[in-house]
Amino acid sequence: MKLERSIELYTKGKRNLVGSVNSPVRAFKSVGGVPIFIEKAKGSKIYDVDGNEYIDFVLSYGPMILGHRNSKVERAVEKALKKGYTFGASTEAEIKMAKLVCEAFPGMDKVRFVSSGTEAVFSAIRLARAFTGKNKIIKFSGCYHGHSDALLVAAGSGLATLSIPGSAGVPDEAVKNTLIAEYNNIDSVENHLANNNDIAAVIIEPIAGNMGVVQPTSEFIQELRDLTKASGVLLIVDEVMTGFRSKFGGAQELLGIEADITCLGKVVGGGFPVGAYGARNEIMEMVAPLGNMYQAGTLSGNPIAMACGIATLKELKKQNPYDKFEKTAAFLERELLAAAKEYGIDLQVNRFGSMINPFFTKEKVVDFKSAQTSNTEQFKTFFWKMMEHGVFLPPSQFEAWFLGTAMTKRDIYKVRSAIKIAMKAVA
Ligand code: PLP
Repeated sequence: MKLERSIELYTKGKRNLVGSVNSPVRAFKSVGGVPIFIEKAKGSKIYDVDGNEYIDFVLSYGPMILGHRNSKVERAVEKALKKGYTFGASTEAEIKMAKLVCEAFPGMDKVRFVSSGTEAVFSAIRLARAFTGKNKIIKFSGCYHGHSDALLVAAGSGLATLSIPGSAGVPDEAVKNTLIAEYNNIDSVENHLANNNDIAAVIIEPIAGNMGVVQPTSEFIQELRDLTKASGVLLIVDEVMTGFRSKFGGAQELLGIEADITCLGKVVGGGFPVGAYGARNEIMEMVAPLGNMYQAGTLSGNPIAMACGIATLKELKKQNPYDKFEKTAAFLERELLAAAKEYGIDLQVNRFGSMINPFFTKEKVVDFKSAQTSNTEQFKTFFWKMMEHGVFLPPSQFEAWFLGTAMTKRDIYKVRSAIKIAMKAVA
């Protein structure tokens, strides 16, 4: 596999960029080798600077659900660009976007746009504290909610990839109000609730995509909803990854639950920096300028990002690709398991909607602990063989593969062939 130009850029980049990247997982550290540098992308394909073509299952870690440079989205962005980049005053696009988002999530009367998932989540936590007058939060081990101090505890995503249990530079005081529970274990939540009367919220990834793909059992998620309601504790559903991806109404639509506060990111901006948090009126009216929970942003509701988000959501609604995603993911699961069986490899495939992940382990993966039993050396071999055969996967055992609407049958058959070769290499 030709990677000369990527190697050259990686070496050059290291001088002035930390690890030559601007986000740790992009460094390919856990899979060894050199990170690829991207030249361009179109539809289901992404091209690196050495001219290698890949079917893209990273999709920028989720946002590019329509594939790259969808023509309708591109036209909307170009039109917005011609009117100016940012104004520091409101635009009609923000109202249109808010309507689209609130209509998708029944529990959301009002929404506030921000510029990233991290911002959406830490603002939601502040809001939950303001609303309840309480301080503690419960998060689940292996869930990742962005890089704010209070949430970098037992977190998945890049921290799991790099085996960092908690970030340096986070003071004990910043995390003393963060309690950890185990995913799919309602007793661990009940214990915290029984022993603390200062809990403002429980925050959960409704499908945990940051420890691979781990889905909640229907009993667990329903009990969590009932328990939080009965205890007067807010349920924050972090749909940064799953919003508009699992279903148009997020994982909540698929799981049949309604959050008190919903966080969004990724798909909502269609590739531009947008995050959002929203809730029913009673809660959102705490936010300034209506209330005294303060949160602001120079680029919040940016007009180009709004144009991209609106066009993406409208197109997604029109295409309604969710049944097709389900069928494609089921096909990939069968192919992965069949290839693993043929070569005698222990493999678990977890999937939910358009998110799928194979774990190289015998153990059923239901939480962070079981996810970590995965053989990351086997994943590494698998990853590079897939790359060699034209499939760009997240360079980590603990990140989900994302399906996109631009993927064709031909692409998926090509992936099937690559899977067979990659599994043979693992054996
Ligand atoms: N929450 C979840 C569930 C995420 O997956 C992520 C990012 O991967 C975040 C929050 C943070 O979003 P961002 O990277 O846009 O800050």
